[in-house]
Amino acid sequence: MSAKIIKGTEVREKILEEITAEVAQIKEKHGVVPGLVTILVGENPASMSYVTLKIKTAHRVGFKEVQDSQSVDISEEDLLALIDKYNNDDTINGILVQLPLPDQIDEKKILNAINPNKDVDGFHPVNVGRLMIGGPEVKFPPCTPAGIQELIVRSGVETSGAEVVVVGRSNIVGKPIANMMLQKGPGANSTVTVVHTRTKDMAAHCKRADVLIVAAGVPDLVKPEWIKPGACVIDVGVNRVGEKISEKTGKKIAILKGDVDFDAAKEIAGWITPVPGGVGPMTITMLMKNTLKSLKFHLGIE
Ligand code: NAP
Repeated sequence: MSAKIIKGTEVREKILEEITAEVAQIKEKHGVVPGLVTILVGENPASMSYVTLKIKTAHRVGFKEVQDSQSVDISEEDLLALIDKYNNDDTINGILVQLPLPDQIDEKKILNAINPNKDVDGFHPVNVGRLMIGGPEVKFPPCTPAGIQELIVRSGVETSGAEVVVVGRSNIVGKPIANMMLQKGPGANSTVTVVHTRTKDMAAHCKRADVLIVAAGVPDLVKPEWIKPGACVIDVGVNRVGEKISEKTGKKIAILKGDVDFDAAKEIAGWITPVPGGVGPMTITMLMKNTLKSLKFHLGIE
């Protein structure tokens, strides 16, 4: 039997429509819209294209969007002053510093300077701690893990009591999604195992998974025989394995592959996300959701 394909592109559209409607309602009732500032240092092409996408999405849902581009040689002190300015600006609900930053700047220092109540990326230690505590403490779940959980929930996959196996233990995906899936509450209540490069028998763990979340960054790491029939497979990996000419634009584009052998896995799994078009579109979507939440906290309506 072929798996149901979880299309992140379709879920994104639905969530962005929900956000747009809520923004319009808040604007009518409270006369304000969420404000998001994107701070970009230098001209790294990948960063510029991420930022452009974030700005486009913010405009689409009706946010006030501030793009603050800074020269690559900005000092750490000046960047900290800029963050302080936005921390104290009531029209800004979310502050996003596009990484990576140039060598003269300590990334950790910059991220920690963001007011945790405007940290819509969810990387500030205060928000990491809130996520660990769970429940109403959680303000801004990090965007990629939040997108993964949203895909699982909206696909109707049962997570309560389910064996969830997470491949990878990074701070941005593996650890937070593992933590989120074991919390009490809807879309969670799972029994969670995290595997990594020191795990002795990765295949054995994966084979037990009702929900298998793979975030390793290794193409085709997960073999079809590791997948339990009917399992939900979430492939977070984005691996560039070559280049091709786009049929749409005629330009060179990367050929992307996930961490799971999709063609074989879809014949065994119950649900599966494709790469591209699965988890990828969810990250910016959840950034918008967190920014809207931030305004709602500010207004005392969340
Ligand atoms: P990361 O920081 O490199 O972490 C990778 C994790 O996978 C590490 O914990 C590593 O284990 C584990 N791992 C690597 N190779 C393994 C192997 N052969 N067997 C078992 N475990 C292995 O990566 P990340 O930032 O979490 O990203 C993971 C993937 O997701 C990448 O492809 C990235 O591009 C993608 N990603 C996508 C999105 C999105 O779609 N929006 C967002 C973020 C990341 P150790 O800790 O033992 O080294």
